[in-house]
Amino acid sequence: MADKIRVTIWNEYRHEVNNEEIAKLYPKGIHGQIASFLSEESDMEVRTATLDEPDHGIPDEVLDNTDVLLWWGHMHHGEVRDDRVEYIRHRVYTGGMGFIALHSGHHSKPFRALVGATGNLSWGENQHEILWNLKPSHPIAAGIPDHFHLEEEELYAEPFYIPNPDDLILGGWFEEGYIFRSCCTFTRGVGKIVYLQPGHESVPTYYNPYIQRIIKNAVRWARPNDFGYEIKNEAPYVRSALDPDAK
Ligand code: ZN
Repeated sequence: MADKIRVTIWNEYRHEVNNEEIAKLYPKGIHGQIASFLSEESDMEVRTATLDEPDHGIPDEVLDNTDVLLWWGHMHHGEVRDDRVEYIRHRVYTGGMGFIALHSGHHSKPFRALVGATGNLSWGENQHEILWNLKPSHPIAAGIPDHFHLEEEELYAEPFYIPNPDDLILGGWFEEGYIFRSCCTFTRGVGKIVYLQPGHESVPTYYNPYIQRIIKNAVRWARPNDFGYEIKNEAPYVRSALDPDAK
């Protein structure tokens, strides 16, 4: 395991290019804004990747050297090549790479492949959201008050078709009466997965200090363990563990 957490922030990076208002809000792209606050952390080494780069910016050698992959995609999930999705799954399941699905990443190919669900949900207009801290003991909730407000966020509403999460960290309440599982975790193979709902492209969510803290916490939580043995992608036949010659 490297000393620093090697973070790759992946972004579809089309809204910021095609829409003036969104470009004003995120002049360096959503990935650039997330990179700017993660780069301030002395234990993180940050790079970014986008859809239109060769291999979407995530060839095998980048993924092999990524401890935690953050994923923001929205309109163009279908353009992500299946071989990249399969390699991400391999890295999470057997390499322990952490995966953080941001906002509309609930419908991304990698998130759906990793957790094994459609990720479907209901959605609506931007509105006031209150995020409730449901699990103050969890490392991802460190430094987060019992609740905080986002003046405006896109409505995401239950039912959210995901497998039962290991931990539910934030509950979202929206002013039109809807609720949502806004931050939750999963484990698959030896890898850790986080889903975080706030982060719509037309609102300044990634400038919010609590959201930034949650993302920093999530990166640290999702980094691979220093495994005490080699994790192989196999299902070996074994003999008695009590027999010293059995292997
Ligand atoms: Zn959105």
